Amino acid sequence: IIELSSISKTFPGGVRALDSVSLTVKEGEVVAVIGPSGSGKSTMLRCINGLEEIDSGTIVVDGIPLDEKPANRLTIRTEVGMVFQSFNLFPHLSVRENIDIAQIRVRKRSAAQAEERSRELLAKVGLTDKIDAYPSQLSGGQKQRVAIARALAMDPKVMLFDEATSALDPEMIGEVLQVMRDLAAEGMTMLAVTHEMGFAREVASRVLFLDEGAVIEQQEAKAFFQRPSQERSREFLRKVF
Ligand code: ATP
Ligand code: MG
Repeated sequence: IIELSSISKTFPGGVRALDSVSLTVKEGEVVAVIGPSGSGKSTMLRCINGLEEIDSGTIVVDGIPLDEKPANRLTIRTEVGMVFQSFNLFPHLSVRENIDIAQIRVRKRSAAQAEERSRELLAKVGLTDKIDAYPSQLSGGQKQRVAIARALAMDPKVMLFDEATSALDPEMIGEVLQVMRDLAAEGMTMLAVTHEMGFAREVASRVLFLDEGAVIEQQEAKAFFQRPSQERSREFLRKVF
């Protein structure tokens, strides 16, 4: 459902953030993206939903090429949900309004339809009682669960997570990982940049290891953690464990 073929991206100033990265993610797969700081993980996710332009290569999502056509870009943006480290909720909107808004504006649902879906999703992430709260009244873990509900409200075909738990206090990481685990178990296709090696090992079907913008290794998750095939991934794992 995601097909990256030799995508490259150099930022002004000469940093080669992505160096001929190829990746295929099939429906229902969970791929964990790991690698050192600055290895291009965020850039890769941002390219997939068109937040960042690539210099060369191709990106196809659910059969639609991410090209110059605004209609294609819009469709891909709608089908790809993204969750960031920093939540990015609208502070002046309530939890329900945060989840309603794109359903109404982009999916063209009525206010009543949007509200029904928002209630369903809040139940799913365990936040029914916070429906009328404002983001400033929520803990980090609760904000992130709202951000996940908001992304799911668009009925995305793929979810991208960029270090969804990195900004959270340790006691809140588990609740967000649990929501991600539930999603994976329901068959959601996910590409998740993560520092949570336990999550990567248990939930991911595959691990993609990036270093300096290049794919160093791509393997079935259990095999990757048991016997990484490349020296650079071995060295990385030695540092994180
Ligand atoms: P981290 O684990 O720290 O989040 P990352 O793997 O997500 O790192 P990226 O944010 O994708 O790394 O950055 C890859 C490289 O591109 C880095 O060298 C970074 O400095 C550079 N870079 C990222 N965004 C920009 C930008 N907007 N302009 C210039 N250089 C950038
Ligand atoms: Mg990053």
